[in-house]
Amino acid sequence: MTKKISLATRAVHGKKLHAYKGPVNTPIYQTTTYRFDNSNDAVRYANGDPTVYVYSRYHNPSVEDVEEKIALMNETESAVLFASGMAAISTAVLSMVHAGEEIISTPSLYGGTYRFFRDVLPLYNISVTYVSPDEIGNISRLATAKTKLFYCESPTNPAVGIVDLKKAAAEVRKAEKKHGVKIGMMIDNTFATCLFQSPLKLGFDLIVESATKYIGGHSDVLAGTVAGPLANVKPIRQLAKYLGGCADPFAAYLLSRSLKTFELRVNRQSANAMKFAKHFEHHKKISRIFYPGLRSHPDHAVAKKQMSGFGGMVLMEVRGGVKGAVAVCDALRVAVNAMSLGGVETLVSIPVYSSHVNMSAAELKQHGVTPGMIRISIGVEGIDDLIDDFEQALKKI
Ligand code: PLP
Repeated sequence: MTKKISLATRAVHGKKLHAYKGPVNTPIYQTTTYRFDNSNDAVRYANGDPTVYVYSRYHNPSVEDVEEKIALMNETESAVLFASGMAAISTAVLSMVHAGEEIISTPSLYGGTYRFFRDVLPLYNISVTYVSPDEIGNISRLATAKTKLFYCESPTNPAVGIVDLKKAAAEVRKAEKKHGVKIGMMIDNTFATCLFQSPLKLGFDLIVESATKYIGGHSDVLAGTVAGPLANVKPIRQLAKYLGGCADPFAAYLLSRSLKTFELRVNRQSANAMKFAKHFEHHKKISRIFYPGLRSHPDHAVAKKQMSGFGGMVLMEVRGGVKGAVAVCDALRVAVNAMSLGGVETLVSIPVYSSHVNMSAAELKQHGVTPGMIRISIGVEGIDDLIDDFEQALKKI
């Protein structure tokens, strides 16, 4: 085959394309350890031969099947599968930044990542400086000789804000020259997924993702991924062995199953989200709808430039503050009032009670979160059923 193989085909088959013989589904290698042919295998392992299977915290065939597919889908060399998105993020960050060093990040982040930056990294003498996406041009001014990492999300959780990724990469490269340092660039691509955004092509070094969301897609598996060129991923894989946040073979099996429908699901969610956002854009009970695909989104032009689709996440700010948001969430009959996102079922959550709990008023302002916001993860249901459901629920305000 000379033609480039599509993302959907890579997600279904991985590398097992032509003459592959064996089970259609990768079996669950539910084992912690592997029998050696003889002690020569142990010697080979001790001498650093990576092909010898020894222990499932290091490698497992079910896990490797997913890692191979994630790398192929991101059109890169390597990926590591973790037990959760936070295991992937914390391991990747700690592998790149050490005591006395600094991170520059945009402030609008998934609450768990922000709290990890705020509450945990200072314990290890790692500091984080925040730069607003509107002031990306300040990166080279904010960077110092100790800056080791630029980190962001785009679209952001929950405000679906957009960071201009190409511009950020250009600014980071400028800062590197100014300070004579290497600054890694890492993005959390959970909201966009590799279907709609390819940050490695825009200058980023590593992609982290909560595979619990769109990759898993069925609200039944926790996992996380790191993907990028082999040289960038290698130290993260090494640290993962020490920190132990490795994925379980059964989780890997579920993800392998999920990847077969990844493109179908995520395309449908994105198409549904666009119709949903357009329908509610001027509703009288709603003060604002945020969706990167709407022309009214402040960064629609940037989103259009760097995304090939706008994803399944919509943010609705209802009138009546948090009371209004609660009234709507409690009245929904099709959409489910539950945290998380990316599953085939539409989920709603109120950020001040979920992803952004435990934050001061100033922090919420910095993250662009208000009490009347409802984060909506659009599923694959019939769009008319979803629209009718929200129409009836909005009558409760
Ligand atoms: N990144 C984003 C954007 C998220 O929304 C989440 C979880 O909601 C995470 C990371 C953390 O992922 P996990 O819950 O799989 O640890």
